[in-house]
Amino acid sequence: MPTSPPADLPHPRIPVAEARALVVGAVRRVAAEPVGLAELAGRVLAAPVVAPHDLPRHANSAMDGYALRAGEPGPWPVAARILAGDDPAPLPAGACAAIATGGVLPAGADAVVAIEQAVEADGVVTATAALTAGDHVRPVGADVRAGAEVLPAGAVLGPLAAAAVAGLGLTDAACAARPRVAILTTGDELVAPGEPLRRGQIHESNSVLVRAALVRAGCAVVHVGGVPDAAAATRDAFARALADADLVVSTGGVSVGPRDHVKPALAALGVRELFWRIATQPGQPTWCGTAPDGALVAGLPGNPLSCLVGLHLLLVPAVRAMMGADPGPETVRAELAAPVRRLPARMRCLPMRLVHGRLEDLGAGVSHQLSRAARANALALVPAGEGELAAGAAVDAVVLG
Ligand code: AMP
Ligand code: MG
Repeated sequence: MPTSPPADLPHPRIPVAEARALVVGAVRRVAAEPVGLAELAGRVLAAPVVAPHDLPRHANSAMDGYALRAGEPGPWPVAARILAGDDPAPLPAGACAAIATGGVLPAGADAVVAIEQAVEADGVVTATAALTAGDHVRPVGADVRAGAEVLPAGAVLGPLAAAAVAGLGLTDAACAARPRVAILTTGDELVAPGEPLRRGQIHESNSVLVRAALVRAGCAVVHVGGVPDAAAATRDAFARALADADLVVSTGGVSVGPRDHVKPALAALGVRELFWRIATQPGQPTWCGTAPDGALVAGLPGNPLSCLVGLHLLLVPAVRAMMGADPGPETVRAELAAPVRRLPARMRCLPMRLVHGRLEDLGAGVSHQLSRAARANALALVPAGEGELAAGAAVDAVVLG
């Protein structure tokens, strides 16, 4: 594969942002389904979550203390003892009620004096600090009002969001279905991990990478298969994969070698090309297209660190778009710990270790160096340009997790 194809190639490489816009624009949205509370974290909302009632529903105490009328001079005899969960009677004039955090404020009370600012002796309370109406009271609707939007459609739910849905009393929320992904690895040299290697063979790792990244992005992997380097077998494997997937991802066999059967197979199946070749290093020979039924098809290059580029810069955004989430990718701005050489016409995508805002080079600059990249938690994006970026220069980095 030439490192710098001539500009007049029929498939000029395109900037990765342009490639991403093409795939994100081409994806088919997935259906919505109800998802229960225990499964919500990690899912994408298909419809807004709206508060069915005010929260808090009733004014209640923010402290352990005494509920009373702030305008009364005191001291106040204790008329009741209110615990969280009680439904208290109205407060008699001139009296107070001992109240626990979360206890409903009795009708008539308008403030709570904290236990630390009160003295109770013989059932009578004296306040040791000045009182104002509203002190230590959580008013009705102070968290959210009935009918207000708590989470918008497209929100990616984390643990807090899932808890908020539970706090509203809902048992599930409408979420985007998990995009269905089929993964095909191509290459006669590939052997399953655990199996012995003959000379020239290698252990297959791309399917593990692709599966893990796409599952983390919210997908359901419905098929993983290995495909021999043969035209008919490649075509058959893609035809089967396309029958039941929103996204078909293959790795390897997408370059211009005599055993690269992916593109002809996809053409034969009517998969329409969006682009081939992106202006990155590694990752240049990346192919994407759309099947007649709207499924997205991606032919990622075979080298693991080349495969990583299209996976995180194109396919994770694509599946997020399928679910109606902001496609991203999520990037952080971070400093290079060591200088990095730039390439004149391609963005370098380097697996690095992001620690406290600094990107540490792992020496994984060549696309087969998977072991060197193993500790990476970020993909540093070094823009095309002349010379090198100095240590301390800021670049965008995609967080790999
Ligand atoms: P290809 O794009 O098919 O020419 O493959 C490029 C390089 O990536 C070759 O060295 C392959 O052996 C390697 N490769 C291809 N597929 C995989 C895979 N699934 N796991 C690990 N390495 C692979
Ligand atoms: Mg191959």
